[in-house]
Amino acid sequence: MRSTIKIAALIVLISVFTGFLQAGMELPLHQKKLNDKVLIVWIGDYMQQIATVALATKKGIVVIEASLIRSHDARVRQAIEKEFGRNDFKYLINTHFHHDHTAGNQIYADATIVGHKNVPAGMKEELTGEGLVKLIDKFKGMQKDREEALKHLEPESRDYKFTEEFIACLKLAIPELQSGFVPTFPSVLFEKNMILDMGDMTIELYSLGGMHTDSDIVIFVPEEGLVAIGDVAPDQMLPYIRKELKSDFSVTLENWGRIVESGREIKYVNMAHSDMFLSVETFKEQYRYLNTLWQGLSEMFRQGLTLEDAKKKYTIEKDFPYFKEKIIKMRDIDINEHNIEAIWERIANSQTI
Ligand SMILES: [Zn+2]
Repeated sequence: MRSTIKIAALIVLISVFTGFLQAGMELPLHQKKLNDKVLIVWIGDYMQQIATVALATKKGIVVIEASLIRSHDARVRQAIEKEFGRNDFKYLINTHFHHDHTAGNQIYADATIVGHKNVPAGMKEELTGEGLVKLIDKFKGMQKDREEALKHLEPESRDYKFTEEFIACLKLAIPELQSGFVPTFPSVLFEKNMILDMGDMTIELYSLGGMHTDSDIVIFVPEEGLVAIGDVAPDQMLPYIRKELKSDFSVTLENWGRIVESGREIKYVNMAHSDMFLSVETFKEQYRYLNTLWQGLSEMFRQGLTLEDAKKKYTIEKDFPYFKEKIIKMRDIDINEHNIEAIWERIANSQTI
């Protein structure tokens, strides 16, 4: 009996010790090769990390997404160089301005960085001056909280491993932002769309009219059937429209439609965070959902009907059963009704201007 307790205690000790070791250790790097020209690389197993897409084109390597931690970006870059056997990085594309997608830009300072025209302003706010000080403070607070939380979690549990990985990332991010950090802004900017002709690949870049931030873009590479969409809307839930962004749905849907309705095959959709997933079918259904509401509500508005009529007319059950099994409520918010209100507001505002 006694020895069983001793062994049990020893096991607990060992796992705690391994935990501490791991927190100071390099997180594992993962890569997925879609084919000889398309590689996806990310670091870590539990918490959301950035899944970087690398494309080996005739005119150089194109990378989509940097991350928060530049030592991670350096490892990702190295893995790309090794896999492709070359280091001619031509472009880095930022999918939006958020710090967890752009702080690592400096690792690709030798390439041309491309993004939506609103990326530099957003980056400046988060990654320079007061914004940067606030961000570092926030991370320090998070580290403290997580270290405290870790003490109360069951080692070997998923929560424990997640928290441990979170702490390891913060331990890298904080000193990296405090010293040697050079905010590196995109130098090639566009508003609505842009095409990069890479010889054997066409990189189509489209603004999404402001769905997650005011700087979201989606990238489509028709030759590879590849879509990269940053943080917009994951597979598990109905897209949620952020009212405060005052999205320009005419741009959102025109550009999304250029990918979904062009008859070109989509084989793979990459969401930026490694713990998120978006199937090709859901990517198409998200477009159909938003487009149906936008067109339908515009027509109802023209006919002089009300927001209440609109809410009654479009239901998930009847009109969008594809999303029936997905998350359609957030806290107390009915996401579909919320979206109808947001779209109605946009239509009403555009008509009165
Ligand atoms: Zn984001």
